[in-house]
Amino acid sequence: MSLSLRQTNLRKLIKRHFDVLILGAGINGAVSAASLAARGVKVALIDKGDFGGSTSSQSSNLAWGGIKYLESGELNLVSHLCKSRNHLMKSFPSTVKEIRFLTSVQKGFRWPVPLLYLGTLLYWLMGRFATRAPVALTREGLKRRDPRIRINAASGGFEYSDCYLHDNDSRFVFSFVRTAMNYGAVAANYIGATAFARKNGVWLVSTRDEIDGQTSEVKCDVLINACGPEVDCVNNMAARKTSYRHVFSKGVHLMVDRTPDPSRILAFFASDGRLFFVIPMGPKTCIGTTDTEVSDPAVSVNDDDREFILSNANDLLNLSEPLTKADIIAERCGVRPLAVSGESQKTDWVELSRKHHIEVSAPDAHISIFGGKLTDCINVGDEIVEIAATLGVKFPVEPRRWYGEPDVKVKEEFVVQAQLMGLDELADPRSCEPLTDRLWRRYGANAFEMLETVRENPGNADRLLEHAEYLRCEVEQAGRREMITKLEDFLRRRSKISLVVRRNDIIDDPGLREFCEILFGDQAEAKLQEYVAQTDPDKQ
Ligand SMILES: Cc1cc2nc3c(=O)[nH]c(=O)nc-3n(C[C@H](O)[C@H](O)[C@H](O)COP(=O)(O)OP(=O)(O)OC[C@H]3O[C@@H](n4cnc5c(N)ncnc54)[C@H](O)[C@@H]3O)c2cc1C
Repeated sequence: MSLSLRQTNLRKLIKRHFDVLILGAGINGAVSAASLAARGVKVALIDKGDFGGSTSSQSSNLAWGGIKYLESGELNLVSHLCKSRNHLMKSFPSTVKEIRFLTSVQKGFRWPVPLLYLGTLLYWLMGRFATRAPVALTREGLKRRDPRIRINAASGGFEYSDCYLHDNDSRFVFSFVRTAMNYGAVAANYIGATAFARKNGVWLVSTRDEIDGQTSEVKCDVLINACGPEVDCVNNMAARKTSYRHVFSKGVHLMVDRTPDPSRILAFFASDGRLFFVIPMGPKTCIGTTDTEVSDPAVSVNDDDREFILSNANDLLNLSEPLTKADIIAERCGVRPLAVSGESQKTDWVELSRKHHIEVSAPDAHISIFGGKLTDCINVGDEIVEIAATLGVKFPVEPRRWYGEPDVKVKEEFVVQAQLMGLDELADPRSCEPLTDRLWRRYGANAFEMLETVRENPGNADRLLEHAEYLRCEVEQAGRREMITKLEDFLRRRSKISLVVRRNDIIDDPGLREFCEILFGDQAEAKLQEYVAQTDPDKQ
């Protein structure tokens, strides 16, 4: 029997001695792996859960310059994040898309609308005019733009631009994991680091396979702790002291069963004075977020969170029926890991900086990545390469671009081939975008392989699930290339199916069995039952 990608990588993890081992495959670990592997460094990347399965799958899905940090006067941070956002927008034109934010301001708000509008102009300037210009709006102007906005308590508003991740945050993270693997990195999900020793200049990291409980050891010269909210906990396990540490702010989003206007995000100042968003996500709407100080990074949604989000949405939106808990399809919940230096007593959550800090201990070749944002990911990857060089890591390969979509000419060729074979006509009429756009955005140059399988057999363009647009050829390719270890890896992270389709509709779908057979072969039934048990609301 042939080995799966994961099984093959697990064997390599034990056999090889790596230049760099990265713990944690959220955005920070994934970009570090991609940037180093593209320079020919021997990299291993492990995560105790799925790739992008923690904080990096609970964000607001925005690549944004941080307009709200203007209020706390963090001009350098805003300028830096705007630059990072522009860079992402240029590098991933199909994935990181400009979108308008239609913002209404309630009467009596702490800042008057004209001043807030001046803020958006400053934001646009700091964004080097890379997006459309902001516009000031009267109450009536807001209503004309979007009748869903309740204007009776509004004094006016404005519209400005930022960017969003078209698919979802964890899919974006996976694209870097995949790039790292393309350049030879050995990546495996569900492998946790459990103990650390350093002998004769080599790190010996004990690991546990969360699927079968097997333990083993990985050897490397340089160790990167990119465990997000668990960076401190993992450093404690290794008895390491750092000058930075994390504090946590819990953030919740609710996915609700309402049809959004895909062309814009609605933004409001919620009852706690913070920015609050109504974000289109595929055919449904994502609402949030909250910002609550917590001391433990293991968090879950509670009734106060639901009440806060639903009541703010009901106050600010003009809905035919108010939103209730019954409208919730799925919930997203995570903590923002916020970096503070050891002595800092700063606890103003809204004002705490969202900058990342990379702490290096040269004598024992150890790196910890604190804080940060998805938006700043390319800088994290580039900084890690520079730091690795100072720790003596050798780069056998010349610098190359380790991120971004393929050249526009490759895309043009894909579009021509897709048109000539009539790809879009094969799509299900319920699809919300042309198949050509979706396949290119999700798979880039690998989408050519899908064209070939559809040429061979048009049945490979069949949609497998009643409520989701994924085709047989996509699921087949995901089974080979995307290390789907549990069904949830595909439904929640490589795709956003479980965010926009209710759990019972997924489980009752007549196509789900074939779906699982393609992904898991003779383990299909076991994996399906595992998903049913793990997502059972009575056991959450
Ligand atoms: C509510 C919310 C909204 C946000 N919105 C935005 C936004 O719109 N735009 C933006 O740019 N940023 C946003 N952020 C911030 C952004 O999501 C985070 O900064 C980023 O995802 C953190 O990535 P990370 O790689 O540091 O951590 P994570 O994504 O948490 O990754 C760390 C990984 O380490 C793994 N791990 C932990 N312990 C071990 C171990 N012992 N062994 C192996 N692996 C281990 C975990 O399983 C995890 O996958 C938001 C955050 C939140 C919470």
